[in-house]
Amino acid sequence: MNEQPQDIYKCSVCLKEVKVTNNSNGTLICCKREMQNITFDRLGTFKLQSLKQKSALVQFLNILSQQMPKNQQDNKAAVDDLIQKNSKVALLLAKEIAVENQGFDLNKLLMNIIDDLWVSILIDYPQYIAQASFESKLEIKKLLTDAFELDRRALNTLEAILYRNESTLEFDAS
Ligand SMILES: [Zn+2]
Repeated sequence: MNEQPQDIYKCSVCLKEVKVTNNSNGTLICCKREMQNITFDRLGTFKLQSLKQKSALVQFLNILSQQMPKNQQDNKAAVDDLIQKNSKVALLLAKEIAVENQGFDLNKLLMNIIDDLWVSILIDYPQYIAQASFESKLEIKKLLTDAFELDRRALNTLEAILYRNESTLEFDAS
């Protein structure tokens, strides 16, 4: 019996996965974006997700650490230790991803981050800001607008780096 190829596609926005059981033309769209074929690179996708998750966790722990009151010094030490260890794991994951791409440098990671920034600028933040506007929460609206502007600046900077250094940017994977 012949197995039909079952390509797996993933939405980079909502992370939904679908299995395609018969071949047909056309592109799969989810969250207004083309879904990516991850059939032969599931582990690669997971490593990237793990890197994102660790990075987000480190960010949150940093905020937590800065907000902890004096009577929480013992817990603060534990949080700081977690920040250090999670940062280390994130760096190892980034190196692993770079090595797997044959020293193909930071470009793939950079392109992924740029992709995420586009999603945040085109889909996420306009939605957040519209919600704050709708609820007349002007302070939050301003905060979210500032966050949106920061993403735009990050996008501009990262795109400039990507396009200028496409052939030379290398990640030190040693
Ligand atoms: Zn989706």
